[in-house]
Amino acid sequence: MQGQTVSTATPLARLLRAHLGADGREEVPMNGIKPSREQALIQVLASGPDDVTVADIAGSTGLGRSTVGKALAKLERAGKVRRRAGGRDGARRLPDRWSSAAERLTMADTLAPPGDGPASRRVGGRYPRRAMPQRQTKRGAERTPLAGNYDVLICGASFAGLAVARELAGSGARTLIVDRYEIGERQTSACAAPTAWLEAMGVAGSIRQTFDTLVVHTPHTRVDFRLPWTFSTFDYGELCGALFEQCDAEFETAKVHGRATSSALEPSDMPLPAPHGTGPESPGVPGSDEGRRKGDPIAVTTDRGDISAPVVVDALGWKRVLAGNEYQPPEAPLSRGLEVHPQGGGNELEIWIDRDYVPAGYSWSFPARDEVRVGVGSFDPRFHVKEPTVRLADDLDRDAVRYQGNWIPHELRPAIADGVFFVGDSAGHCLPLTAEGIRTAFYFGIACGRELRQVIAGRAEPAIALRRYGDFSATHEWQFRWMLRVQRLVPRVPPRLLAAALRGMERRSFVDWSFGHYLRIADPAFAGGGPAYEPVRELRAA
Ligand SMILES: Cc1cc2nc3c(=O)[nH]c(=O)nc-3n(C[C@H](O)[C@H](O)[C@H](O)COP(=O)(O)OP(=O)(O)OC[C@H]3O[C@@H](n4cnc5c(N)ncnc54)[C@H](O)[C@@H]3O)c2cc1C
Repeated sequence: MQGQTVSTATPLARLLRAHLGADGREEVPMNGIKPSREQALIQVLASGPDDVTVADIAGSTGLGRSTVGKALAKLERAGKVRRRAGGRDGARRLPDRWSSAAERLTMADTLAPPGDGPASRRVGGRYPRRAMPQRQTKRGAERTPLAGNYDVLICGASFAGLAVARELAGSGARTLIVDRYEIGERQTSACAAPTAWLEAMGVAGSIRQTFDTLVVHTPHTRVDFRLPWTFSTFDYGELCGALFEQCDAEFETAKVHGRATSSALEPSDMPLPAPHGTGPESPGVPGSDEGRRKGDPIAVTTDRGDISAPVVVDALGWKRVLAGNEYQPPEAPLSRGLEVHPQGGGNELEIWIDRDYVPAGYSWSFPARDEVRVGVGSFDPRFHVKEPTVRLADDLDRDAVRYQGNWIPHELRPAIADGVFFVGDSAGHCLPLTAEGIRTAFYFGIACGRELRQVIAGRAEPAIALRRYGDFSATHEWQFRWMLRVQRLVPRVPPRLLAAALRGMERRSFVDWSFGHYLRIADPAFAGGGPAYEPVRELRAA
């Protein structure tokens, strides 16, 4: 190999020294591309003894176990090293053993500069960049004034808003959905949800990849949880489009600013039903708006004009715009999440609980057929996640491109306020700890839609629907509180203890029990009209 020789004393140099037998001097090629620690590891494994453990490599090189473990996992995904599961010796877990998957490699192989040969053959090979999605939202002269009275106004056209609108299909209500972007234009999550929910919502066509195992990495272990049900990643645009197809609502792009003063408005001409059961005369419930005069519309100000309806839903996400934007980070109970979407493939749904990336939170890699969603979520809103997201992408040999991030509420909030229904993130319906907010947005969206159907059919006053929906959401409070406790606990558990605890949870019966309970917090059977929750094994056996 052509190269110049430089002296260095980094752990990488020690690793290379162990491999190359050089006298403390590292070979750096003329092209100036420095070997990464992964490349050096490939070299060690390609020429050294097979069947080594992370501890063997860490011990002989001076690298941290966590560093070696991460590098090996990355190489495994790239098909460059092989793992032989350690298994168990009675109660004791034996370490995994590693060997090279390659024929003897040369340093030149591992240092091939980008652009040489197909991406799959290159070390650190990156996929070509994909064009950014085009903004479709109307601008300038196309942004005509918008005004009018509707029966139902749904603000927000993502998971929650579309779930409400879908539930109203066929009810006869004149429903308007508004969003600042076109439907499905701006992805708002990593888009992974239980498959049964996607089937139940009639959007299985948007599925990109399905997983029956969740892989959890910590610095000290890797645990494969075989799930009793599957998770799927999906295409956001396709899912939103498929939901909207099931609605009979109108849609307009408009940015919602907040509530207008109702005195400026004419009452809606929607014929509201006669009082039913405990009507407006019943004792007031905070947020239920029971004092509002029958038929009084609620007016919402947008950048295209004021829109009014007697029934208004805020599905605008964490900001809870129609409650006055008073919910601001970092004071508000919000987590923050950021991810990149490089092109590429993978076959494992992985998360990392590793303080190297985020002191309180977790990181993830969710493959979705032709792209991978790699991100970091922090339960502490003050912790910045961009640098660790880029680092994780780099550790996984992925490009940090096509960013997507947002705040994520981790506390349930009142689902009704001043006559408005709040659904999804605007009501804090995203589950603490896991930050799963898609199926809960569906679940509470359906619940809200069902109450609204009663109003449209003349069987309930809006005030009753508000109260019933608010109560329904509040009955889940203990589950959210319990998950928030676990969210606060996990970062405090010492990493070795956490690893031991996770290994203890690997037992099949425990996984079935715990993940079954977790799914039932927002059970896909609730959606109706689709397959109810059934453990995967039973589905397979059928
Ligand atoms: C990085 C990241 C990854 C995530 N990954 C997952 C995951 O894999 N699985 C999962 O279950 N959950 C995930 N979540 C959480 C999930 O994204 C949310 O809980 C979910 O999107 C909530 O849905 P929603 O409809 O309530 O709100 P959102 O999806 O946030 O939708 C709000 C809608 O309102 C619109 N809007 C906002 N403000 C205005 C305004 N002023 N005027 C007009 N329109 C407006 C937005 O354009 C958007 O369409 C993730 C979150 C983040 C940040």
